[in-house]
Amino acid sequence: MEKIGDSLSKLTNSTDFLKRYEHLKNEVLNDKSVRLFLNENSSRITKEMVDKSLSKLYEFSAQSKMCDKCPSLDGCINMMQGYHPKLVIRGNLIDLQYEACPRKLIHDEKSKQQKLIQSLYVPKEILSATLEDFYQSDRGDYRMEAVDKATSFVEEYAEGKKQKGLYLYGSFGVGKTYLLGAIANELAAKNIPSMIVYVPDFLREIKAAIGDNTVNEKIEMIKKAPVLMFDDFGAETMSSWARDEVLGPILQFRMLENMPTFFTSNFDYAGLQNHFTFSQRGEKEEVKAARIMERIKYLAEPLLLQGENRRA
Ligand code: ADP
Ligand code: MG
Repeated sequence: MEKIGDSLSKLTNSTDFLKRYEHLKNEVLNDKSVRLFLNENSSRITKEMVDKSLSKLYEFSAQSKMCDKCPSLDGCINMMQGYHPKLVIRGNLIDLQYEACPRKLIHDEKSKQQKLIQSLYVPKEILSATLEDFYQSDRGDYRMEAVDKATSFVEEYAEGKKQKGLYLYGSFGVGKTYLLGAIANELAAKNIPSMIVYVPDFLREIKAAIGDNTVNEKIEMIKKAPVLMFDDFGAETMSSWARDEVLGPILQFRMLENMPTFFTSNFDYAGLQNHFTFSQRGEKEEVKAARIMERIKYLAEPLLLQGENRRA
């Protein structure tokens, strides 16, 4: 009795299994992308190959391809996050090959760009700034002009070519730093490295380095950045030393070498000139102030940014 029961249940199970197997097989072979692959390679694929490779075909049909089943890279459903399968023929078998999916490619490209921007001082939110967002957020004419100028700078950039940067000025919170970030990101997309330097911190850092002999090294690095961006120019407590020994030589070098330089500042040119005229010591140093202004005007074109204060 028992024996018969056993074999009977085995039989049921195996028919069950067979049924499920057939069902699954049908499903897999009806999958659109599986069918496409089989059709495209019909001259090389035999029925036997299909039968032997069914588990691979099943795996292929169940995984997300071209990110079609995933909400985001973090939410990737595939066995290997960020990789999607491709069907290939290997000898007498159909096999899978996993490759980086579109979302992962974009993600990797972005981190590569972000590494390229050596902007030690810039807040993270600006690392994803784009010129498009900058314009979309406020369609004022002055924004259009800023975006036009920024775009042509990026398009026309070539190493060693004489090109004016921008001197972006305007009040606190209008998006000057954000625009620098957007330009840096557009440049990075073309593999052009830029460096954004937050001037008050930079000058503090240089001053602190006087004791340890790295002053020249730091200044050299800034001098030679293919595209240099001075953020918050004029926000530092200006000393004659910072003006004449640090900023002056950097600007002079960039002028002679035709190296594009950008600035952001709360001051217009007159305000900045005043800032450079009265150093910490309180003496009036008009000639020195005029000299540094000349360099800035040579390097950059002034552009007023207006709008609401976007800082909460
Ligand atoms: P500024 O440098 O002129 O003082 P910021 O560039 O720092 O101003 O901008 C102020 C705040 O508004 C920042 O938090 C910045 O990220 C945000 N911001 C500026 N412009 C935009 C924009 N177009 N889209 C989204 N956020 C922006
Ligand atoms: Mg700023």
